[in-house]
Amino acid sequence: MSITLDLSRATPATPNLGPVNLAGLTRQQIATALVEAGVVSPSQAKMRASQIWGWTQHHGLTSFEGMSNIAKETRALLADRFVLDRPQIVERQESIDGTTKWLIRFAPGIEAETVFIPDVGGGSGALCVSSQVGCTLNCTFCHTGTQALVRNLTAAEIVAQVQTARDDLAEWHVGPGERRLTNIVFMGMGEPLYNLDGVATALDIVSDDQGIAISRRRVTVSTSGVVPRLTELGERTGAMLAISLHAVTDELRDVLVPINKAYPIAQLLDAIRAYPGLSNAKRVTFEYVMLKGVNDSPAEARALVELLRGIPAKINLIPFNPWPGSPYECSSGNRIHAFADIVNAAGYASPIRTPRGRDILAACGQLKSQSEKTRASARRAAEAG
Ligand code: SAH
Ligand code: SF4
Repeated sequence: MSITLDLSRATPATPNLGPVNLAGLTRQQIATALVEAGVVSPSQAKMRASQIWGWTQHHGLTSFEGMSNIAKETRALLADRFVLDRPQIVERQESIDGTTKWLIRFAPGIEAETVFIPDVGGGSGALCVSSQVGCTLNCTFCHTGTQALVRNLTAAEIVAQVQTARDDLAEWHVGPGERRLTNIVFMGMGEPLYNLDGVATALDIVSDDQGIAISRRRVTVSTSGVVPRLTELGERTGAMLAISLHAVTDELRDVLVPINKAYPIAQLLDAIRAYPGLSNAKRVTFEYVMLKGVNDSPAEARALVELLRGIPAKINLIPFNPWPGSPYECSSGNRIHAFADIVNAAGYASPIRTPRGRDILAACGQLKSQSEKTRASARRAAEAG
């Protein structure tokens, strides 16, 4: 009998190179792990899992030591079998404007960037998280798009980005009003809708009242427009939606955001109109990157408001952030303001996004890690070593 190895299934959902890491798991996953390890009886698993979950997600503990409601012997048993590790911070950079970027290594060869942008307004600060290492899409103005997809990040790895930022900001024990990290945006590396399971589970964890408790209304998922998954995104996550539109004709959007060839603008807008919960109180954000001489004319601004008529929306104008070798230039300030004026006059809020952290290549679309797709054999060798 011959056995065919399906390598796509060879990588475990949670890269497990030693003791199981419980730090970013759901209560249910923790309970299962405890029972499998024989550390607790099935009847106790749920209670123990809830305790451990609370210590990690509410208090940010990274060892079993401080879990005062768990008996000392049980804590020793747990420490024997499990860890509560954070991924490794390979590099930390802070911009002159206070933006902080971490390059995080989740496993050998699996690295992605996370960015904290303080003071985005109204006492809020946003953490920009990655959902994938690299991206399968090739938007021509995006640095991540030049990096092939290495793999999806697991839910635990997405949660770990939030935990890592909270460690660094010393934010585990501050009162709700003093938090700086109040919002999460899925605008880092990757296309979140191609990792919907990971994103949805991570959101369940970070929005949980007993844990980090960032409300779903303060989480925005940005997508290039994976039409067949929009409704599911809304139903499973309740997150705010942002759409990377960037062009008003299919002809141009096909070039800038090539997924448009599969799901053209009219289909995308229909799917957005059907997004669960969309209302004036819960608007969709359209992102529009300002590219000099490409998509920034007054005629395009007028076409844009026509296109979006009837959709509760705001339009976020993003000055193009250059990266080494990028084929575009950013529109002039005058051009951007003229565009914004037209959009505003039509009744849409049209904030111009202030580029943050450009000096450390931390702004929108500038993220890229050195991670490369490795052959499965090389990866297994690295993991074994
Ligand atoms: N893949 C998702 C989310 C990540 S990109 C998406 O495409 O929506 C987050 C935002 O940054 C998107 O709106 C994207 O179009 C924009 N962006 C990408 N490269 C950029 C650049 N160089 N300058 C400005 N914005 C950019
Ligand atoms: Fe991927 Fe978004 Fe970049 Fe497009 S803009 S390549 S979808 S990360």
